[in-house]
Amino acid sequence: MRLRTPVCKLCRRKGIKLFLKGERCKTKCPLDKEKKRAPFSLRRRRRGFGRASEYSLQLREKEKVRNFYGLSERQFQRYFQMAEKKRGIIGEELLLLLERRLDNVIYGLRVVPSRRMVRQIINHGDILVNNRRVNRPSYQVRINDVLSFREKSKLYPRLKEMVEKGKKEERLTWLEFDPEKLSARAVRMPTRADVTVPVTEQLIVDFYSK
Ligand code: SF4
Repeated sequence: MRLRTPVCKLCRRKGIKLFLKGERCKTKCPLDKEKKRAPFSLRRRRRGFGRASEYSLQLREKEKVRNFYGLSERQFQRYFQMAEKKRGIIGEELLLLLERRLDNVIYGLRVVPSRRMVRQIINHGDILVNNRRVNRPSYQVRINDVLSFREKSKLYPRLKEMVEKGKKEERLTWLEFDPEKLSARAVRMPTRADVTVPVTEQLIVDFYSK
């Protein structure tokens, strides 16, 4: 999905880092420089713009998650419909479906610096799942899937260096990452505790249940 808004603005509005600019988000993020600011809606309230409505809170949570995973409204709605058909709690199921997307998982290995770049390499067929090329960022990673990078990929020679850079960052805990082989295996399915975006998912459910 192409973002048409200046991306840092999205983070400011939501009051959290959405990591939409890759490497820059780690080194030159304007949010790090600013003193901890309250989210946009709260600041408005303090300035006397009145209380944020229930609707705007729900919308804000929905947009936060949508931007975090880099999805269009249509794609996001499709995930919500899929979550509704599941047996569990809708909000949780929604987050878990998003968490299992191939682009999110590859990004979570902290090898490729941005989600945008991850999508690009997936679209170019540079990611293998169980030794087969998968060029759909929406692929749902399953337990025991082995993810790796195609050796012929243009990116391959730079990967080791990128692994070194991302060493200090937290990787997804439901995958076992082998930095030597540059591959990862899903050892379990993600749980709600593995979702890193701070969100009250019930507000998203309320948003779509109107
Ligand atoms: Fe900009 Fe990235 Fe910081 Fe968000 S996290 S404000 S996109 S630099």
